[in-house]
Amino acid sequence: MSSVRRENSLSKPSTRSRSRRPSSSNQAADAPRLPAEFLKSAASFSQCPPETGPEIAFAGRSNAGKSSVLNRLTGSRRTAKVSKQPGRTQLLNFFDVPGTTGRLVDLPGYGFAKAGKSAQAAWQKTVNDYLNKRDALAGIVLVMDIRHPLQPFDIELIEWADPSELPMRILLNKADKLKRGAQSKVLQQVRNVIAGAELTSVQVFSASSGQGVAELVSTLISWLGEPAE
Ligand code: GDP
Repeated sequence: MSSVRRENSLSKPSTRSRSRRPSSSNQAADAPRLPAEFLKSAASFSQCPPETGPEIAFAGRSNAGKSSVLNRLTGSRRTAKVSKQPGRTQLLNFFDVPGTTGRLVDLPGYGFAKAGKSAQAAWQKTVNDYLNKRDALAGIVLVMDIRHPLQPFDIELIEWADPSELPMRILLNKADKLKRGAQSKVLQQVRNVIAGAELTSVQVFSASSGQGVAELVSTLISWLGEPAE
């Protein structure tokens, strides 16, 4: 494809084993939220904290609402605030999920208009290293603005996740901006794209209204494979 694809290349699907994925799915479907506590930021793969348990990475284009999704999911406006602090936006930010050994990992939003080429290359390498090498990675939440779905990097991540045997949940965020019929149309469009990708699923979501949060929490708890408190 374009140079974007080469620059962003996620390269090899890893050889991670299916057996590493948590398999439990016996958690309450109506869990309202997934609390999280900031642990640390990492500027490079080598700075990532030692693995303790399954990690769920959050990816998305800047402004798709990734921070708002994290805040809604964790029930705290402070969660993603840390990721928004100047200097932290291009880092990997790790959050512990209390009561589990699992973590949420906020990846840098892609598509910074203001980031220079060298800065972009640096965070792309960090993100690629994390996605390709982190054994603890148990799943990816890909946040899209429902009005602008399936941007090039979204597609690239989607095409990489399933062959890498990584579960992915796509969130069509800002659903409150569209009427129900228009929401369904985009949902179907994305379903068509992910048809055949066994481990990839999609749902509508609104960080503003909370639409879809129970469904998301239920999925993420099953990925973590442990109860959240
Ligand atoms: P990020 O750059 O992906 O972390 O995006 P933010 O969470 O900072 O959100 C970008 C903008 O979209 C902000 O103005 C948010 O208030 C807005 N936003 C995020 N989620 C929603 C949503 O579900 N509905 C609406 N209407 N606005 C949202």
